[in-house]
Amino acid sequence: MKITEHIASSAGKTLFSFEILPPLKGQNIQSIFDAIDPLMDFNPAFIDVTYHREEYEYMERENGLLEKRIVRKRPGTVGICAAIQNKYKADAVPHILCGGFNSEDTENFLIDLDFLGIDNVVALRGDAVKSELYFRAEKNGHAYARDLVRQIAAMNRGVYLDEDSEYCSATNFCVGVAGYPEKHMEAASFSQDIHHLKKKVEAGADYIITQMFFDNQKFFDFVKVCRAEGITIPIIPGIKPLVAQSQLSTIPHRFKVDIPNDLVLEVARARNNSAVREIGVEWAISQCRELVEFGVPILHFYSMGKSTHVKKVAAEIF
Ligand code: FAD
Repeated sequence: MKITEHIASSAGKTLFSFEILPPLKGQNIQSIFDAIDPLMDFNPAFIDVTYHREEYEYMERENGLLEKRIVRKRPGTVGICAAIQNKYKADAVPHILCGGFNSEDTENFLIDLDFLGIDNVVALRGDAVKSELYFRAEKNGHAYARDLVRQIAAMNRGVYLDEDSEYCSATNFCVGVAGYPEKHMEAASFSQDIHHLKKKVEAGADYIITQMFFDNQKFFDFVKVCRAEGITIPIIPGIKPLVAQSQLSTIPHRFKVDIPNDLVLEVARARNNSAVREIGVEWAISQCRELVEFGVPILHFYSMGKSTHVKKVAAEIF
């Protein structure tokens, strides 16, 4: 079922969803099931599975020279989605990137999803690989998520890259895209970012799912600006309970989001990470209560593969 259909059939009730990461290469799928099992009680509308492109690693050889190796640390996105749909009969949503894909790779990826009965995707650009300062598209690949959305929308009309569309069957993907209540780090201004978000919507996006945020006012302001700009599709907030003191620096660095000073002070004063987890869960619960009151269609949790804290929050809300 499409995410938009879940929202339409919820009769205004806020639904639950969460995101997981594929396990590190070499681990088996049981770790994924162990993370999902405790959250199935809350009847998730969907489960997102992130996509991780290749990275470059430099290995020192015996002669002292460095060897550049390409590694993918977390493969398995499509397989995990198929396994989730099969085991839980729940909608699994793979993330699909521009980075590392040319248009033909993208088409083939989407054909696999279509054959597997996966009809939801989140279309993203992806970040620059660690060895590069700026994102670089593949030759014949897409530079922005908007162009990826266009390709998916074309396939939904039965238009493939080279094939005679008379003989191609249309896919039926529901497409999510990313939104940034605190602006994407590369955007020159908040207005420019919203302008580009609108282009993704015009290209065919069906809903927006936001970067994590810790201050609801930023989300409310973001929704207001989107609506004023004529973006009418559902906007799903992303929630992340803090679980470690170190996240006071890693989260702003990695995701370019602010942590409100009240929360920073509470976490900084905490005696240990067990106390931080209590603070993080309480903060997320109060964020969620306010967001439900605001009427968000879905609360989407970044579980990072650990369900304990998401479960504590969900238990208070759903
Ligand atoms: P875009 O929408 O393409 O935007 C990127 C930047 O370019 C923005 O600053 C935008 O304002 C600007 N821009 C857009 N169009 C134009 C244009 N035509 N001209 C000039 N500038 C333009 N990363 C992963 O690697 N794997 C994942 O699974 C993953 N999942 C994510 C899920 C969510 C909900 C979110 C919020 C992010 C996720 N990311 C993931 C991270 C994401 O890939 C990065 O944030 C990336 O830097 C931007 O992706 P985007 O799809 O928002 O890009």
